[in-house]
Amino acid sequence: MSIWPTIIAVTGIVVGATYLILMLVFVFQRDKEIDKILALAYLGMGILWASAVTLANLQRIFIPLVTDPADQLIPVLTTALAALQITLVCSLLEWPIISIVATASGTWSGMLLLGTLYFLFVPPPLIPILKIAQGGWAVITLAQVGFMTATLLRSRLALYRNRALYWLLTSVPLVAGMALTLLPAGPLRAAGPVVHLLGAFALFRGVATYWLPNVKALLWSALRLTLLLALTIAMILGVLLGADWLNTRVPLSHTMLIIPLAIIAALIYLPLYQLFQRLAAYLLGGVGFDPAQALRDYSQTIGTVLDLEQLAAIAVETVAQAFDVRRGALLVTMETERGGLELQPVPGRGEVSRETIEFEPISPILARFREQDAPLLQYEVQHHPALRAAAQRERDWLRQLEMEVYLPIRSQGELTGILAIGPQRTGEPYSPRALEFLSTLAHQTGVALQNASLFEGLRALNAHITELNENLRTAYERLERLDKAKGDFLSIASHELRTPLTQVRGYVDILNELAETDTLGPEQVRRIAGNISRPIRRLENIINAMMDASQIDAEGLSLYFTSTMLSATMRMAIEQWATALEERKITLTTHGLDEIPTIQADTQRLFQAFSNLISNGIKFTPDGGKITIAARTLDRDHFEVTFADTGIGIGSSEQELIFEKFYRVGSVSLHSTGDYKFKGAGPGLGLTIVRGVIEGHGGCIWVESPGYDEEHCPGSVFHVVLPFKGHRGPCQWKQPSQVLLSALAFENMEDN
Ligand code: ADP
Repeated sequence: MSIWPTIIAVTGIVVGATYLILMLVFVFQRDKEIDKILALAYLGMGILWASAVTLANLQRIFIPLVTDPADQLIPVLTTALAALQITLVCSLLEWPIISIVATASGTWSGMLLLGTLYFLFVPPPLIPILKIAQGGWAVITLAQVGFMTATLLRSRLALYRNRALYWLLTSVPLVAGMALTLLPAGPLRAAGPVVHLLGAFALFRGVATYWLPNVKALLWSALRLTLLLALTIAMILGVLLGADWLNTRVPLSHTMLIIPLAIIAALIYLPLYQLFQRLAAYLLGGVGFDPAQALRDYSQTIGTVLDLEQLAAIAVETVAQAFDVRRGALLVTMETERGGLELQPVPGRGEVSRETIEFEPISPILARFREQDAPLLQYEVQHHPALRAAAQRERDWLRQLEMEVYLPIRSQGELTGILAIGPQRTGEPYSPRALEFLSTLAHQTGVALQNASLFEGLRALNAHITELNENLRTAYERLERLDKAKGDFLSIASHELRTPLTQVRGYVDILNELAETDTLGPEQVRRIAGNISRPIRRLENIINAMMDASQIDAEGLSLYFTSTMLSATMRMAIEQWATALEERKITLTTHGLDEIPTIQADTQRLFQAFSNLISNGIKFTPDGGKITIAARTLDRDHFEVTFADTGIGIGSSEQELIFEKFYRVGSVSLHSTGDYKFKGAGPGLGLTIVRGVIEGHGGCIWVESPGYDEEHCPGSVFHVVLPFKGHRGPCQWKQPSQVLLSALAFENMEDN
């Protein structure tokens, strides 16, 4: 009896058992990713398929009843196996069309399986189904090879190319094994499952560990070994055969011939080997990751980079070409005055917090970075006895960065930064060679980082200088205007003070003359006294205003808070200007004053502020204009009073300045001492006092106006926001934009 059936049976059992063991490993793994589930199904189908092949190969020797159907099931099982394989490849290479591929190939295999099973029991015609199955398998296999080749050509990242290459090479024994079983019965078909098993091992490794070996490096070593072997054999054979050939022609002994031939062979061996090696490198070029090349490319690229963000991105990207990392950053260092070090993260990849930290001067972690060039692992930060002494704050900060390795970057021996690289996606630790590569990369970053830091510093300095210049310009303009105002004060003061004084002196002279001529009657005395008291009142007002302004400047107004009725206080203030309003034919209306409940305020000062605002409204509104005073509650603690007029308006650049002491818009010569004449301004203290009073109550004041225009009179609106309970301290009301309902709106309301 032949030994073949026994060999076939034993091989079949070994193959089946191996698939089963591989399946069990997947079953007991905790994470069941889609790849692993598909691989599990693939191996399960592999067992069915290998069993069918083994049974069919036994060729009715042992159990004829099952070998025949098994024979007929091989093509359809092979197709089903290929269908699972293409789905798995799509998943591994992250092709988005995986669901379409899985559905199409799964349906196809299912239909074939049902058809085959049906025809197993209804004789014949099985031949067309077998052919269809074989054709289907060929199509699926071609599509799969197409996917892998496309991935290989498409991906620019070395790691992805390596992955595609790995799966392409793995599929060679898998596809070859399946193809062999589609042959007619014989030793080749019997070898199918064994060849397939070789591929299944590679597949198992690729799915189980995720981290794939560097295929190009492996291929390269294999090729080098083959070349070396072939060359050595060729040389030895050359020497031996050459000696034989020469023996018949040259009158020298065999040994004497071998020696010079061996010397010649040894001399040409090395150059020849190098030539072969270069040839192989040329043929294999373009796939895989070459650290030396990557480092060369890196230093060329960063040579011109002056931007820290860009430098961080390029550094981490270069690392990502070699290792599957998702996060990385440059930690830029800055010496602190205390001798510590500030670290500022510049993210290169992934979400990295930009929060900075200052390492203590005595920090062991800092000492490690400063003194040693070797990479520091996050694991060491957590567990190294020497580093455990570092402040918890520093260790926490490093931990929240979620990096795995830190590589010191130096320039002229000084620590200028740290390259921080996150963990590999595979979860594998960095190998010593990987760390060596990362260290070299960090070394090369030194000069570029220093340049980029210097440039960054210059840029920041430049921005700072520009800002300072801008501030200086604004301050200068403001000072210029204030200076003008101060300068104007002299002329205003001389004008404002001298005019009433001259009036007083004039009337006093008249009095003297009348007294000398003895013509002074009581009626005259009364009239002249009346004329004297008006300029004196004016003088008094100006002096009082100056006193108030200087008090506001020194320590703020002294205020006496009492229960105050807003409407009553306002009415008093309006009353004061009744004659003026009448003479100038200005209509003054009020809204909502009575709705404001009793407030806590200094009644006298509030009266003064309102009076000033009304007087300004009258002075800067032409005859026949309107003034509208409106009040409303803003929130639980605040109310607003607006003073709107239809006057000449205020330019936007003046709207802040008019509250400054002695500031007045326009030419000084235009002003007159008139209390309520059109455009007849005073000494420029009115609004300063108003602001002092309002802010003294914890309120705020501002003006809105479309601009200054004497012709069209766009008007101005003074907004006063006050707390119901006046208090010292800054205004606590935050201005929501929708509340800025201009008082002009009240006016429109009225017009409508
Ligand atoms: P003055 O005591 O001279 O009236 P203020 O401090 O009250 O000074 O006002 C300063 C300047 O603000 C005024 O000279 C005037 O140019 C401008 N101003 C104040 N109120 C108004 C207003 N309602 N309309 C237009 N301009 C105004």
